[in-house]
Amino acid sequence: MIENLNNRERTHSCGELRKEHVGQRVTLMGWCARRRDFGPLTFIDLRDRGGITQIVVNQEKAPNAHAKAKEIRNEYVIAAIGEVVLRDEDSRNRNLETGEVEVQATEIVVLNDSRPLPFQLEPDLRERVRDLRRVEGEDPDSSVSERIREPRKPSTQGLASEDLRLKYRYLDLRRPQLQANLRLRHRVVLEINRYMDERGFTHIETPNLIKSTPEGARDYIVPSRVQPGKFFALPQSPQIFKQICMIAGLDKYYQIARCFRDEDLRADRQPEFSQLDVEMSFPTPEQIYKLIEGLFVRIFQLIGAELQTPFPRFTFAEVMSRFGSDKPDLRIEGMELQDLSSALAETTFAPYASVLAAGGEVKGIVIPDGATMSRKSLDELQEFAKRYGAGALAWIKLGDELSSSLMKALGNDKVIDLAGVAGAQKGDAVLIVAGKSDIVAASLGALRNEIARREKLIPESVFAPLWVTEFPMFQFHEDDRRYYSMHHPFTSPLDEDVALLERAVNGETELFGQLRAKAYDTVINGVEVAGGSIRIHRRDVQSLVFKALGMTEETARARFGFFLDALAYGTPPHGGIASGIERTLMVLVPTENIRDVMAFPKTASAQDLMIDAPGEVDPKQLEELHLRIAEA
Ligand code: ASP
Repeated sequence: MIENLNNRERTHSCGELRKEHVGQRVTLMGWCARRRDFGPLTFIDLRDRGGITQIVVNQEKAPNAHAKAKEIRNEYVIAAIGEVVLRDEDSRNRNLETGEVEVQATEIVVLNDSRPLPFQLEPDLRERVRDLRRVEGEDPDSSVSERIREPRKPSTQGLASEDLRLKYRYLDLRRPQLQANLRLRHRVVLEINRYMDERGFTHIETPNLIKSTPEGARDYIVPSRVQPGKFFALPQSPQIFKQICMIAGLDKYYQIARCFRDEDLRADRQPEFSQLDVEMSFPTPEQIYKLIEGLFVRIFQLIGAELQTPFPRFTFAEVMSRFGSDKPDLRIEGMELQDLSSALAETTFAPYASVLAAGGEVKGIVIPDGATMSRKSLDELQEFAKRYGAGALAWIKLGDELSSSLMKALGNDKVIDLAGVAGAQKGDAVLIVAGKSDIVAASLGALRNEIARREKLIPESVFAPLWVTEFPMFQFHEDDRRYYSMHHPFTSPLDEDVALLERAVNGETELFGQLRAKAYDTVINGVEVAGGSIRIHRRDVQSLVFKALGMTEETARARFGFFLDALAYGTPPHGGIASGIERTLMVLVPTENIRDVMAFPKTASAQDLMIDAPGEVDPKQLEELHLRIAEA
């Protein structure tokens, strides 16, 4: 029954036919999304990446085609040849863009069959195709405002489990939503290439088999066959190479680079991902901000959104104290963290007194109209806050009657005082956390997002970009009680902090926490879409930073000797940034699942279920690589 394509050629895609094609003889090819049998009439929804067209096969007019159509099952690949006819006004398929017409097939060619699918591709395909074309903005006729007005979040409703879909990724990828995402991704990358080229940047590929470049994750390592016992690392980013490009005088570098990081996966992380990687010589941070703002303006225009520039700027200290996050979602109005510490300076309430005595703080956020929150929601939020390290979540409700979990401990007047300091109005609620400042920030920051999400306070189709600047140079890790670079070890301290760095390295370790870096992130809608820094271009300062990170001179030489040498040959001041392609796509689509914007993603446990990787290798391969698997 399977026939050859021979010299048949497609004349149109399945999303193309309209009224003006009526009367034309066309050849469409695609997959049978659905077949409906009404005795002498068989209807086929024929799908390709362009959309869906209804094919009608009439037993009387085309008996052969009709007989074949009866054999066709879902996902068979067919060609339908016939005439475009107009459908009656009242029987139009309003859900299909091609719904005004259908193809009266005179010939059906079965190009391939298909096993029954292990899962249904998509519950309501027709509906979906129509909406996607809008979101994607591919249709030149649909106006920009129409596209923005009707955003469509990828919904997983009615879909099979993700693991099953990942195993059969080639089937899942037939879903119009994923195809639209991948096409948008293509257009984003294309736009990046155009934009960077217009500004004189050169796309330079850097190697994937390298020596470790620390970005804070574990490396994926690759054993060398020809150098027994030696290993390459896959790049966590092209960081050192792009800096070396500047030392080489290449001046303006960019790359859509593949990066590999072996770290605990979260919803927005994958072991391998792509980033736009940028470096330039003699830049001020201002030039980098302008470059990246211009780029995001162009990228967001692809979905019909206008970003306003310049993006507002906040220092790290400011966002942490106001929003409790270094990637605040500025679409959320208000609900900023309010410091209640001084209002409690005299308190005898032991939990708060001890926190304050230990240099901690007490802060709260006001939930507009939150006084009606149930006990149950408050308990849930309490559990939620605990996940971020909060010991407890206190609350005040300014309902018809004042109520508060702190009433007994602090008394009526103090509770009213605190609500006032927090800026709460009648009808609001205040949620309060006490503790070390990082825990207070993390838990209230997360609560701010969570409550906004639950209460639907986040407007859709709004994009709120910002810069976060002046990140700390170092972060203290409690587990091994040492400082790590907050960005990476090649990030320059603020000029005015270099002297402090020297003092810190020479014994005044309490200064480490105060050092600020020339580092910056771009955040849009609570997602860190780019991050970078002005680099250290002086060998002496670079050595100081390695020392600050606990590296002896020998270790620094063993790991980065080539780079320290390179810095000694006329390194220009330089700096750059990198922007995650997947993260950016997640904001554009929008989706919270990074796997929606990649063709072949891995699971949260870093496996590829389709190709079944990672897998074992032949003992012979291990032998060639001089490796032995240790007994568990
Ligand atoms: N290499 C950094 C990263 O991958 C970006 C940069 O500093 O340019 O996050």
